[in-house]
Amino acid sequence: FQSVSLARESLFSKTGKRSLFEKTYQYLHTSTPSLAKVVAVLYEAGAAAKEPRLLGCKENELGLRKFLEDRGHKYIVMSDKEKLLDQELPDTEVLITTPFHPAYVTAERIAKSPKLRLCVTAGVGSDHVDLHAANKAKITVAEVTGSNVVSVAEHVVMQILALVRNFVPAYTQVIKGEWNVGDIAKDSFDLENKVVGTVGAGRIGYRVLQRLKPFNCKELLYSDYQALSPEMESAVGAKRVTFEELIERCDVITINCPLHDKTRNLFNKQVFDKVKPGVYIVNTARGAIVDRDALVEAVKSGKVRGYAGDVWYPQPAPKDHPWRYMPRHAMTPHYSGTTLDAQKRYADGTKDILERYFDGRPFKPEDLIVHNGEFASKAYVQPEK
Ligand code: NAD
Repeated sequence: FQSVSLARESLFSKTGKRSLFEKTYQYLHTSTPSLAKVVAVLYEAGAAAKEPRLLGCKENELGLRKFLEDRGHKYIVMSDKEKLLDQELPDTEVLITTPFHPAYVTAERIAKSPKLRLCVTAGVGSDHVDLHAANKAKITVAEVTGSNVVSVAEHVVMQILALVRNFVPAYTQVIKGEWNVGDIAKDSFDLENKVVGTVGAGRIGYRVLQRLKPFNCKELLYSDYQALSPEMESAVGAKRVTFEELIERCDVITINCPLHDKTRNLFNKQVFDKVKPGVYIVNTARGAIVDRDALVEAVKSGKVRGYAGDVWYPQPAPKDHPWRYMPRHAMTPHYSGTTLDAQKRYADGTKDILERYFDGRPFKPEDLIVHNGEFASKAYVQPEK
C-alpha cells in the first residue's frame, strides 16, 4: 500500500492534474475496506465531551470517523500515548496528534513505523515529532497553520495583564474571604509605558503586537531571524532587535517561536542573569524553550517578577512539576490554542490535509513543516549566525 501511496503522490506532482491512476485509486477507495490505517492520539475529556464542539478530544474524534470510514479507511482513536500507540504504530500510515496532548514521535518510534507516511498536527507546532527523523524517513509532517493563532494571541495578552496587574493573588484574596488592597497594589503596575518584546514575530507574535498597540507601551520590540516587512513593522510600531537587546531591555517578554534545536532551553541561567530585573515572561510557545529549574531559581530570587503561559514539558505536567508551585506565576494547562472556535478550525484543517493526501492533491504549502525529506517551513530552520 505504501508504494501505491507514493506512486499516487509522485504521479500527481508530475502531472499536476488527476490521472487515470488517480481516478482508479479513488474508485478503489470507495470499494475496498481499510485502505489506510489512521491513528489519532487525543486527550480524554470525560463529561466535558458532551459538548459536541469539543472536537479535539478522544470522545469526539475530531469529527473524522464518518469521513474516513466512508472512504474505506480504518480509524483508531486513543488517548494512550505509550503502550497502545506503540502497538498500533507498525502498520499505521497516518498519525494525527495535537500539541495539547502530544504523542512524542521519537526517532525510535519512527524506526518502528515503516508504513508511516503522514503525521498531522491538529493545531500548530510540530516539535513533538522528531523532524530530522521524519525527514530521513521521508514522512510528511503537516499542521493546520494559522488555525489557533488568534486564540493564542488573546491568551498572551490576558496573561500579560494577569501578571502586570497582579490578578491571581487579588482573585485568591476574594475567594478566601480576605480584603487587603495594599498587599495587592504594592505589586501592581500599568502596561502603559512599559517595554514589551516578542521572541518570534510570526503569525502569533505579530498578532500579539497588533493587540498590544492600543496599550501605548513605551516600545514594542521583536527578535526574529525573519524580519517583518517595513509595512508590517510600522502598522504595529514595532522595532526589530537582537535577542540579547530584547532580553536586556524588556519589562515584559512574550515567547512566540517554535521549539527547535536552537530554541530548546533558550531561556537558561545565562539568559536569566542578563534579563532586566523584575521582568515578566509569558510563554505560550513550548515549555522546553525555558529551562525548568533555572526559571524556578530566577522567579524565587525575584529576577523574574512573574511567569505565565500554558505550555509545559512534559505534558500533561506531572503533579510535582515545580512550575505549579513556584511563586508569582499565572500558569494554566495547555488550552490557549484549543478554544471551541479554534477546535472547529483545526478539525476542518485536519480533514482538508487528509483529503488532499488521499486524493493525491498538493498540500497547502503553508501547512507543510517537513516534506519530501526536507524542511518546508522556515520557522524551524534557524540560520547559523
Ligand atoms: P510561525 O511559523 O508563524 O512563526 C514562528 C516565528 O518564530 C517565525 O517567524 C520564525 O522565524 C520565528 N523563530 C524561529 N526561531 C526563532 C528564534 N530562535 N528567535 C526568534 N524567532 C524565531 O508560527 P506561529 O503560528 O506564530 O506559532 C509559533 C509557535 O507557537 C508554534 O511553533 C507553537 O510552538 C506555539 N503554539 C502554541 C499554541 C498553544 O496552544 N499554546 C498554539 C499554537 C502555536
